[in-house]
Amino acid sequence: MPAESRFQIDIPATDILSYLFPLTRLASDKPIWIDADDTSNSLSPKQLLQWVKRLGGGLQLLGLQRQDVVMMYSHNHIFVPVAYLGISGCGCIFSGCNPAYGVDETVYQIQNTECKAILVEPSLLPTLLRAADKANFPKDRIYLFSDKDSGSMNGIKDWRSFILPPSKANSWTWTPLTDFQSCSTIAALNYSSGTTGLPKGVMISHQNVIANVEQSIYMRDLEQPYRPEARPEERWLGFLPLYHAYGQLWSIVAAARTLSPCYFMRSFNYVKFLGNIQKYKVTHIQTAPPVLVMLAKRPETKEYDLSSLQNILCGAAPLSRELQNEVSARFNLKVVQTWGMTEVTCSCLHVPGGRDDRSGSVGYIDPNASIKLINDDEQEVGPGERGEIRVKGPNVCMGYWRNEKATKETFDEDGYLKTGDVAIRNDDGMYWIVDRKKELIKVKGFQVAPAELEAMLLKHEHVADAAVCALQLSDHEELPRAYVALKEEHKSASTEWDIEKWMAERVAKHKQLTGGVVFIEEIPKSPSGKIQRKELREWAKRDAEAW
Ligand code: AMP
Repeated sequence: MPAESRFQIDIPATDILSYLFPLTRLASDKPIWIDADDTSNSLSPKQLLQWVKRLGGGLQLLGLQRQDVVMMYSHNHIFVPVAYLGISGCGCIFSGCNPAYGVDETVYQIQNTECKAILVEPSLLPTLLRAADKANFPKDRIYLFSDKDSGSMNGIKDWRSFILPPSKANSWTWTPLTDFQSCSTIAALNYSSGTTGLPKGVMISHQNVIANVEQSIYMRDLEQPYRPEARPEERWLGFLPLYHAYGQLWSIVAAARTLSPCYFMRSFNYVKFLGNIQKYKVTHIQTAPPVLVMLAKRPETKEYDLSSLQNILCGAAPLSRELQNEVSARFNLKVVQTWGMTEVTCSCLHVPGGRDDRSGSVGYIDPNASIKLINDDEQEVGPGERGEIRVKGPNVCMGYWRNEKATKETFDEDGYLKTGDVAIRNDDGMYWIVDRKKELIKVKGFQVAPAELEAMLLKHEHVADAAVCALQLSDHEELPRAYVALKEEHKSASTEWDIEKWMAERVAKHKQLTGGVVFIEEIPKSPSGKIQRKELREWAKRDAEAW
């Protein structure tokens, strides 16, 4: 029997804008999205709503239709929430592209989303124009997008050129979604490779977003000394990337829902991060284990007053109990773990926010969701036994964009999502992540899909075949490592270092082959031609010991 969450909550069945801005309540004047470099640059929900209406109305005037995709290629800034809510609010679909991506990775997302318009931060325009050219994307559907009016560059106009003028903002309103539409209308396409293959667009519905925000906030308020309706004011730091589900959930939707001021950082920089916590007396951060490693190990940490910090939510990659305890004790705060993945909107297991857990657990199942643990013989296991997490709930995605095959393979016959993460549950219903059995590599919390790197390696004229897996150096460090078979005629023409360098010029930093390249005679494959990843993992384990 699947384990049901012990918590049940009401989840509004509507669209994200109706959820955040009910007609019966005036939007707040309080600054919520604040530029950490210049606090005079901020948006309150009331201001944001005005911009959202101008953008929503503008996209419709451009001729965009319901469920057309608009891609955003930008670092974080306070107008990204406007893009996310304006695009999804007018019935289109928001898809964020990682600003660290180079030309080929961006081409892939333009083509895979089949987007109809692109918003690009001016500093990324040169890369985008090259990508658009390669993807045959029309230049007149590209708009500069930042928190300042950029005029025009290389013939590309600013997004302010097509949105409604302020005087017309209130003439536009969104169409509220009903129950059924809330579950079947896509708000965002976030990219993830899931358990296998290339990155795919995960279809996140309006209902998924609302459910996951409600679930996460419910878990956050659990076991706290306050009543949820009297939550003391929190101050957050918005450094999680907003093209990713984790940033969208907290820094955009949950910040609006809880009216928590969120100081936006353009991207992550550790010293600035420390400075901002001290300067703005940040109380809560949402982050991943690499940041905890820095808090524990980097010498700059002790130069800053971090005493305002009360709670660190940590997810996106494995966190050891030792590190959790070190950070909790040193800063006298709670490190609460969460587990999730893009396919469950953001998260699905949380430790109660008020609990000082030091056990390394990722907590209990979120409200209204259920989990079964399945072993390698496809049998459900009980407490104390290892099994793959399979999950069902209102936060579980609709499937993969225009990819029925992958969607079908990702859900089991009972409609549970196969996650590829292995966990153990105790009698009390708490979970611990103990392994990952899918191909995915996580580098500093970022996804790296082996299939993507393998496809890229095969484009190298000397490479006959390639396979990529994680070199696991510690609980918190895994690096992409490639095993490469060279073509007979090129065997003496390339070195391992040449291949590593060649790749580094073509992929984002976190995807580089920092775990090294190893030449071998032949990639181990099954009779059907599938890479035998178990064997690769064994090699990588052996290699890690000798590293
Ligand atoms: P993403 O889709 O980018 O959010 O990545 C999801 C994957 O990150 C999961 O499937 C896990 O493999 C890993 N992950 C997320 N949270 C945790 C956690 N608390 N502990 C271990 N792994 C995690």
